[in-house]
Amino acid sequence: MRNTAVIIHLDHFLHNIQQIRTLVGPQVKICASVKADAYGHGAVALARVAERGGVDFLGIACPEEGAELRNAGIQLPLLMYGLCLPEDIPKVVDLEISAIVADSEGIEEFARSASRQKKAARLHLKIDTGMGRIGCKPEEALPLAKQIVTSPYLILEGLATHFPISDEADRSFTLHQIQQFLGIIQQLEKEGIRPELLHASNSGGILQYPEANFSMVRPGILLYGYFPSKEVPRQLPIKPVMELKASVLFLKKVPPGTPISYGCTYRTSTTTTIATIGAGYADGYPRSLSNRGRVLIRNKCYPIVGRVTMDQIMVDVGKEPEVERYDEAILFGPNPLGPSAEEIADLAGTIPYEITCGINRRIPRYYLGH
Ligand SMILES: *Cc1c(COP(=O)(O)O)cnc(C)c1O
Repeated sequence: MRNTAVIIHLDHFLHNIQQIRTLVGPQVKICASVKADAYGHGAVALARVAERGGVDFLGIACPEEGAELRNAGIQLPLLMYGLCLPEDIPKVVDLEISAIVADSEGIEEFARSASRQKKAARLHLKIDTGMGRIGCKPEEALPLAKQIVTSPYLILEGLATHFPISDEADRSFTLHQIQQFLGIIQQLEKEGIRPELLHASNSGGILQYPEANFSMVRPGILLYGYFPSKEVPRQLPIKPVMELKASVLFLKKVPPGTPISYGCTYRTSTTTTIATIGAGYADGYPRSLSNRGRVLIRNKCYPIVGRVTMDQIMVDVGKEPEVERYDEAILFGPNPLGPSAEEIADLAGTIPYEITCGINRRIPRYYLGH
């Protein structure tokens, strides 16, 4: 047994939902982004907590994620952030997933499918105000909105945009996006088109642009206990949800000059004890933390020595170790004494999102706190 485990602190997830609820107030709907298996945490389990935690919508990336949630009995409205192939649209309509559209062709596909299925399709028109990913041009918003509202089986449920730098210190770009979005809302209103859900903010937006809450916000990373960047204010007392653990499976006393791991990139400088831990880059622990990371064992941190291997890493636990074989090592998690996913991300040159998303599904998830 490797005994590697992912602990998901559901009480922290609920706490983070409540923090965002307090911040945005009772009037603003919350669309919890549970795409990518809830950033690697497990979408179904977290969606259940979200339902009880007063979340209003769940944000997903593709129809398969919607089907997984619906099959598990999740009743909350679902909003698919991404586009899908025309052949997947009947499934989206059938599962009553609200969908993002960004052009006339996409709207037409939904109209065809919905009328064939004799079922209404709920659409959110996405406007590209600066993200450069999906969305119509601002000047196309009105004609596309009209196309939706005049189509018998289509409902224009929402109007959306997305912020690429709401988590940065510079404000002018995002403020301009908000102005553009507001202009479009007013333009539609003049024509009598008032979609129920107007939404723009991701985690960065929620923290830095309360004026962009509109009728719904779409938090992601904040729900999982991390800030979207170093540049946002950090007063919101969120708690990391994911913890990655593995066991000390081997301990050995070694003399000075002992090479450790592939490439022999590390040699012990004194007599010491090396612990081998049963997790590696195949589990999603970055190989770039070779000779750089640290792990928490019995409330003390120990440095990773040598290269991170596929399934095992080595740490130096000192000459007179307090560590015993089969001790639990925390690779990252909410314990402030040890590394966080953010620390791992910083060392690896990435963001906490990629760390939690990348934790391999071969590791069992244990859900605590609910
Ligand atoms: C992923 C995503 C979000 C959430 O982003 P965070 O930075 O994790 O808060 C919001 N909106 C859209 C469209 C997304 O794709």
